[in-house]
Amino acid sequence: LDGELLSAADIRELATALGVRPTKQRGQNFVIDANTVRRIVRAADIGEDDVVVEIGPGLGSLTLALLRTAGHVTAVEIDDTLAAALPATVAARLPERADRFALVHQDALRVTELPGPTPTALVANLPYNVAVPVLLHMLALFPGIRRGLVMVQSEVADRLAAPPGSKVYGVPSVKAAWYADVRRAGAIGRTVFWPAPNVDSGLVALTRREPPPTTASRTEVFAVVDAAFAQRRKTLRSALAGWAGSPAAAEAACTAAGVSPGARGEALSVEDFARIAEHRPA
Ligand code: SAM
Repeated sequence: LDGELLSAADIRELATALGVRPTKQRGQNFVIDANTVRRIVRAADIGEDDVVVEIGPGLGSLTLALLRTAGHVTAVEIDDTLAAALPATVAARLPERADRFALVHQDALRVTELPGPTPTALVANLPYNVAVPVLLHMLALFPGIRRGLVMVQSEVADRLAAPPGSKVYGVPSVKAAWYADVRRAGAIGRTVFWPAPNVDSGLVALTRREPPPTTASRTEVFAVVDAAFAQRRKTLRSALAGWAGSPAAAEAACTAAGVSPGARGEALSVEDFARIAEHRPA
């Protein structure tokens, strides 16, 4: 059965036939190891009931493994050559499941809707340079996505899964926590890619949660988060002065929210940020 998956030789052959030259700008590092894609699909806990969105299918390594297991896969690819080639790869390798596959040739950050059934899961080896914005965009756009399993740079995986107070806790951690419970789900070495990247990768598992109960909108909450971390070393009193209008107004908003104005953003949970957002002076 595993003959359907792409081997390292298959990837090389496909890339040569298509004249694909992987570029860094597009974060093109293709998985050449069938064990790794199997591991990702297992960790994602995908089944026949799932409608999976995959961002950046590339030559199709992960796509084929997903398609074997999921009810439906919609893949979004920005690259002209890769997007044009993928339907043929799917048709050749998994003809009996080709009708469960849809390809969207677009920049994932510009997607506003997708064809086919409503997505329930996000599984992707994300392009490194846009990994966080793409992840947040998909979670915001498709509330039906209940679970996610994404591969990102190891350092980004740490940041996404970091709890408040941790050294690497920052904007991606807080924003991801708005949508989901996030945890690291394993490490991936460089050798499973072609070309091999110069950083290690990590898996991140996401489980959708209810957003914090707040009268502030997501946009309002995220504005506080951005302001708090824009000057990481500053206390909230001064980091939020611009947002609130003055240091005194920032102090008042924090106090009203039950947060110390002398604290730094890195100590605050997403719930804390949501409460501060509610107390922005009119
Ligand atoms: N999924 C494949 C694999 O695991 O072998 C390829 C993963 S590679 C890390 C990232 C893929 O995302 C590439 O195919 C690249 O062309 C695509 N990509 C880059 N930026 C994108 C964007 N903004 N929207 C959609 N796809 C993008």
